Amino acid sequence: MNYFSTRGQVEPVGFADAVMMGLGNDGGLLLPVSIPAVTDRLEAWRQLDYPSLAFEVLRLFVNTEDISDEELQTLVTRSYATFDHPEIAPVVPVGDIYVMELFHGPTLAFKDFALQLLGNLFEHILARRGQRLNIVGATSGDTGSAAIAGVRGKGNISIFVMHPHNRVSPLQERQMTTVLDDNVHNIAIEGTFDDGQRIMKALFNDLGFKQDYSLGAVNSVNWARVAAQIVYYFWGAFRVQEATGAAAVQCSVPTGNFGDVFAGYLARRMGAPITNLVVATNENDILSRFFATGVYSRSTVVPTLSPSMDIQIASNFERYLYYAVGEDSKRLCGLMAAFAEAGEIALSPAAPGCMDPGMRTGSCDTAATLSTICGYHEAAGYILDPHTAVGVEVGARARKEEEVPLLCLATAHPAKFAAAVTEAIGEAARHPALDALTTLETRCAVLPATEAAVREHITSTLA
Ligand SMILES: *Cc1c(COP(=O)(O)O)cnc(C)c1O
Repeated sequence: MNYFSTRGQVEPVGFADAVMMGLGNDGGLLLPVSIPAVTDRLEAWRQLDYPSLAFEVLRLFVNTEDISDEELQTLVTRSYATFDHPEIAPVVPVGDIYVMELFHGPTLAFKDFALQLLGNLFEHILARRGQRLNIVGATSGDTGSAAIAGVRGKGNISIFVMHPHNRVSPLQERQMTTVLDDNVHNIAIEGTFDDGQRIMKALFNDLGFKQDYSLGAVNSVNWARVAAQIVYYFWGAFRVQEATGAAAVQCSVPTGNFGDVFAGYLARRMGAPITNLVVATNENDILSRFFATGVYSRSTVVPTLSPSMDIQIASNFERYLYYAVGEDSKRLCGLMAAFAEAGEIALSPAAPGCMDPGMRTGSCDTAATLSTICGYHEAAGYILDPHTAVGVEVGARARKEEEVPLLCLATAHPAKFAAAVTEAIGEAARHPALDALTTLETRCAVLPATEAAVREHITSTLA
């Protein structure tokens, strides 16, 4: 499979180049030149265990010159061997819905599905090319640990992750700083998350430094992350079909950067038995407003109980928009430029994609998040994390037809968000891996929030 950019200025590249490029060199996002149709394979695929299904889905997107079938099989097996549940993504009935637990990976959140694979892909591609990669990232606390867990101990890779000193939760901090592998470098900067982002941008904008030190990013738009996430839409739909005998399911997805739900969109177009997707947002509702009205307009980010979805500009949305405007790069570029300038664009409601019959939507506020956690705990004895609760609440409200079973994606373990869960049900959820963090050794450099200090730290560490 080859890849092109939504903005039309990247010559088609193979899978390995797409993975190494991340963001398109023209500022656009990479997409496969065709969407494979797999309807004739569904019966065979539903027999497979998770790693075997992941191999079958991913090989459609990989070029065998870059990664042979045997190699891909090894990478996939290794990526999901770190999960603590034999089914990898168990689907459980909870009251009148099905919940797909995507939190059995090393950091107890769904990003592990993509980042465990991405770390192994990087290692494989770098070894073949005789290259190194030094990943630099800034985190507000939430996604840094999944990136670290993805590349810890991998050959030819180092990772530097900045977090704001004393401004992330103790648990988030420990999920990062207790990773003691030689190639993992945590930096607590004496400033805010925005300072971290600013420093990171400054380092990447110094093209000489970026090249000399082989800097790269693990950003949410890497194609491999989307590809890895396509797998569990097939998996989850099959499991619900087995349980209910239904011809198809609908999936509700708590959404921030639109990466997860975009993978569902592709799975549906490939032929997964999914009637429609529900795009569920918290109060940061730019995406639900778009799917309801056709207007994509920025407002300010408000902090909520589901911080991983506290996003106004959804980095993966451009991929969907490209299809919504009829695969017209010129029109897409115009819209992105207009959005950058005015903070608002409108697709006419008649345009394909707007009022997309495959996309339902809604948003869920703090009170409804808490009452949903409480309600499912009381009625079904099941604890939802606040992100999952947003998907469940909106899914139940926006589901298309009552008869079609509803599959809700559980994106984090409830023990990761103890404060919200305690507020909802009066007690915290527990997880042994998180309890164990408090006794582990940590390593972290504390640095002033300046580009010079971070640059000096990187160069001396890599010397
Ligand atoms: C990242 C994240 C989301 C949002 O996923 P997107 O792909 O950004 O839409 C939802 N829940 C949790 C727990 C997350 O970490």
